[in-house]
Amino acid sequence: MNAIIELKDIKRDFLVGNETVHALRGVSFAIQPGEFVTIMGTSGSGKSTFLKIAGTLEKPDTGAVFLNGIQINGLSQKKICKIRQKKIGFIFQQYQLLPEYTIWDNVCMPLYIAHTVPDKAYIRQLLEKVGLWDRNGDYPDQLSGGEQQRVAIARAMAAKPGVILADEPTGNLDYQTGQEIMKLICASRELYRQTIVMVTHDMDSANYADRIMYMEDGALR
Ligand code: ADP
Ligand code: MG
Repeated sequence: MNAIIELKDIKRDFLVGNETVHALRGVSFAIQPGEFVTIMGTSGSGKSTFLKIAGTLEKPDTGAVFLNGIQINGLSQKKICKIRQKKIGFIFQQYQLLPEYTIWDNVCMPLYIAHTVPDKAYIRQLLEKVGLWDRNGDYPDQLSGGEQQRVAIARAMAAKPGVILADEPTGNLDYQTGQEIMKLICASRELYRQTIVMVTHDMDSANYADRIMYMEDGALR
């Protein structure tokens, strides 16, 4: 079976002042369709940089990124965007909802950006699934943190992506709410047969995965 995401010998440095930070020191990684992998590691070890590069949001200095066997480096930015919009949904620790848009519009945002007409029945189903259909006309600041993260999950699913990349999705939530979010992520994985890469600090969340990997000072093992 072909990996749905494959990274080969990824290196990424940042220049901070006069100092070079080696955020990723030659990371290789592969995930099969339908697999759920968790990445754990201390703060600053390179997890978010890894996830952004795996999700084509950022480019590595060297190394190759493959999505469905297609090498992403070298494609035009426009092509990369198109592929990302179709194939990958993101969930972030800070939710990153747009405050001036309703819950409904926030969930539809990936489709608006891709100039795709939302499948209204499907969006409604997503909002029902995360228990927020009755809030669809409200604005993000009217919702609790856990509710906002549920909106972010529905938004990540809106374009029916095969891959979900989640960066500490339970990081800002209390234990109980975090567990509910994890159950929701797992349920949608089953329902939509998704592949998941999730960064977390939290062992309880990590244990939902098929496989746990550790990032240590820019190296993945
Ligand atoms: P983690 O998500 O594991 O906390 P990050 O991937 O965010 O780690 O960061 C890895 C290292 O790279 C850290 O030392 C961080 O300060 C640095 N870094 C990440 N992004 C940038 C950036 N845009 N500019 C400068 N340094 C960065
Ligand atoms: Mg991070």
